[in-house]
Amino acid sequence: MPAMHGFSYKNGSLSCEDVQLSALAEEYGTPLYVYSAGTIVDHFQRLDKAMEGVDHEVAYAVKANSNLSVLRLLATHGAGFDIVSGGELFRVIKAGGDPAHCTFAGVGKTREEIVYALEQGIYSFNVESEEELRYLNQVAGELNLIAPAAVRVNPNVDAKTHKYISTGKSENKFGVDFEAISGLYARAAAELPNIKLRGLQMHIGSQLTSIAPFIEAVEKVIPLVLELKAKYGIEFWSIGGGIGIIYKDSLESGSVDWWAAQPEEERPLTIERYGKELVPRLKDLGLKILLEPGRYIVGNAGVLITKCLYEKKGSAKTFKIVDAGMNDLIRPALYEGHHEIVPLNEPASAERVKVDVVGPICESGDFFCQDRELPDFNPGDHIALMSAGAYGFAMASNYNSRPLPAEILVEGGTATVIRKRQTLEDVIAGEL
Ligand SMILES: *Cc1c(COP(=O)(O)O)cnc(C)c1O
Repeated sequence: MPAMHGFSYKNGSLSCEDVQLSALAEEYGTPLYVYSAGTIVDHFQRLDKAMEGVDHEVAYAVKANSNLSVLRLLATHGAGFDIVSGGELFRVIKAGGDPAHCTFAGVGKTREEIVYALEQGIYSFNVESEEELRYLNQVAGELNLIAPAAVRVNPNVDAKTHKYISTGKSENKFGVDFEAISGLYARAAAELPNIKLRGLQMHIGSQLTSIAPFIEAVEKVIPLVLELKAKYGIEFWSIGGGIGIIYKDSLESGSVDWWAAQPEEERPLTIERYGKELVPRLKDLGLKILLEPGRYIVGNAGVLITKCLYEKKGSAKTFKIVDAGMNDLIRPALYEGHHEIVPLNEPASAERVKVDVVGPICESGDFFCQDRELPDFNPGDHIALMSAGAYGFAMASNYNSRPLPAEILVEGGTATVIRKRQTLEDVIAGEL
């Protein structure tokens, strides 16, 4: 089964669950992020179910979408959280999440962040270098505390994803070389009295759409994790996040019909397949398995709605200029990310026009698609950029002094503003 999502045409109008997106665009303006609560919960529960048979915990990667209401929704359903900054820990606590179910990743934790996380009693610091582990020991010692820690192993596996989101190769800045882990744990156990070695962590990359790299990494690291368990009594192994989602055809791909029409070998990785392959390999290790999905939980659960402002016909191309820009959704510019583009009013014909959809920002990288065949739309019409729930708003900025867009969470027939659109006063707040 595909990862279903809550967006489809109902009576000719693109809807999120039971709410028409055009009504939201009229009421709240554009650009506008809209999320489906049902989809977020469904994805979380599917992963949880796929891992049945393994002692496990899902620690949602906050950086994918850190809105307080999204965090609260996931906390209510029993999620833990994987954080990468003190700011994300602050958000998790504000949203009612439990620090005891938080893991803290990242290569550059500051003293202030370490102190804050120690005082809040997080589950584990996921440490990315020996230098960081020694510093963590020092800070914990000064506070008379014991810091629970796991080291991130870099298994040197090719995740076969975009180079900017691959993290598990030796040339990436993340983690400690596979071959160096044993020695590091031995030194930590002997020399670092304020560290409790609690686990081992890995995360090989993001947007993986095949199971092979996950299997390769897990199989490579199993002997190591068993050795660490025997020697130091570690209790958990985090296998990271990285489960990919469908970006192409993401409207159709939400339907069972679309899924059934795809040749078996071309169907993208499903969560059921992920579980089926990994559960047998993980279930008898005697370790608690942590998962850190971000994109998989929220990616297909959100869209960015934008309004067409102008059509500009150049000699070489036709540009549809819209009111969202790369400051609102940077994935196309940063990772060559693909977002399906769908009019809110269902197209009456199958006719297509070849266009570039571009934003108002003064950068040539400010586009959402180039030379793509799309149903035609006109100035004043609204379109949706699909699958924008992960690394969308979370990466938005005020570049060009543009206010951050509003965010809406839909649950059934109810739409709630979970972040107000910024005002121009908000944009300059704090400046002299
Ligand atoms: C970003 C990140 C994740 C989440 O990655 P997704 O591809 O969104 O699932 C998980 N763990 C760590 C350490 C990360 O940095």
